[in-house]
Amino acid sequence: MDAEIIAVGSELLTPERLDTNSLWLTAQLNELGIEVVAKMVVGDDRARLAAAVRAVWERSPLLVVTGGLGPTEDDVTREAVAQALGRQLVFHPEILAVIEERFHRAGRVMAGINRRQAYLIEGAEALPNRVGTAPGQWIREADRAVLLLPGPPGELKPMFSESALPRLRAIAPPLVIRTLSFRVAGIAESDLDDRISPVYKRYAGVATTVLAAPGDIQIHLRARCEDEARAEALVGEIGRQIQTILGDRIYSNSDPMEVVIGKLLAARSATLAVAESCTGGLLAQRITSVPGSSAYFLGGLLVYHDAMKTGLAGVSPDLVREHGAVSEAVARALAEGTRARTSATYALAVTGVAGPSGGTDSAPVGTVFIGLAGPEGVVVRRFRFLGDRERVRAFAAQTAMDMLRRRLLGLPEVPGVAPA
Ligand code: AMP
Ligand code: MG
Repeated sequence: MDAEIIAVGSELLTPERLDTNSLWLTAQLNELGIEVVAKMVVGDDRARLAAAVRAVWERSPLLVVTGGLGPTEDDVTREAVAQALGRQLVFHPEILAVIEERFHRAGRVMAGINRRQAYLIEGAEALPNRVGTAPGQWIREADRAVLLLPGPPGELKPMFSESALPRLRAIAPPLVIRTLSFRVAGIAESDLDDRISPVYKRYAGVATTVLAAPGDIQIHLRARCEDEARAEALVGEIGRQIQTILGDRIYSNSDPMEVVIGKLLAARSATLAVAESCTGGLLAQRITSVPGSSAYFLGGLLVYHDAMKTGLAGVSPDLVREHGAVSEAVARALAEGTRARTSATYALAVTGVAGPSGGTDSAPVGTVFIGLAGPEGVVVRRFRFLGDRERVRAFAAQTAMDMLRRRLLGLPEVPGVAPA
């Protein structure tokens, strides 16, 4: 069964407010095997909303509308949906009594405008609101249904779980959705797609999405089937082929890189320290975002200025003068110096040109050297990351952690990549 969601509220069309209800609702609907095929945000405008509702009514079997059920003049969902469906609004004294009672219990007198919330669309069932005043509404006609839910997430969630879920379960055909995800590092998005698209294109029944962030590509597989075993078999079959193709470039199913290296370090009772120049603390920030990281992360040196590279990490001033701060020699000395000064098992060092200025012929913008020192010795790799300052920095932090991951797993170094 396909569904559409309309989030109502002019505030949701501003940069200040985000429509989070539809995300939550999508997860709930997916659990029932209901696929959300489109969603919309519409301002508090009765004509526009009526037109949107009408269009969905004509093309999709299920519409969920959130918001606009409040008591004020700008809450137009009841009127707009009634208009779209060609139905009347009917006053229900028993609903008004419930609202009045709610105010009474709070020691307040109900304002006149709350009467509006006692109107139901002709033929609709009221869904009780335990938390607020506006009831939800459930409208069934032949093979379609419309569900109206209040906007405040604290009202919407219990109403959905208690009243909407059983009604949806009764009308949703049996359909299960099974998903499988991979996170991949050390490969450019276009290369990855070239390699795996011949596999996923063969499976029309499985939706495959590839989401790329700097140095971090996520592959999501979703199979919709009538029976669970078939759905699982399908994602499993594609998943195994993707795993064979990408091998150790896959670093997890869902954990971010900082969690992956944290687990590897902890399992080996190893510790880590970092020295950061162009990432300015981003690497340490990501590593310490993991609860419990103090078990393996000692800390970091933020060596932005050359004087800090020499003073804090013990890099020789001659080395910096001779090779430049963005160089293999300095990355090596930073990694070794940080490891020596902190007594960490491993030290990662990042020095590069994040841009947009500061590039040279020998180290153009995007050039990053990453050094990794450990009991087995030191390696330095040179990368050329493309993109703006934030992307270069994000690539550098992710790639540094991936170098450590590969070392901890005993995997061969991957050559410096220049992701497109
Ligand atoms: P309403 O039901 O339109 O009166 O909405 C009341 C309040 O609920 C709004 O001011 C928002 O704070 C919140 N709200 C409404 N719609 C959403 C939504 N789609 N996602 C998250 N919060 C919402
Ligand atoms: Mg509103």
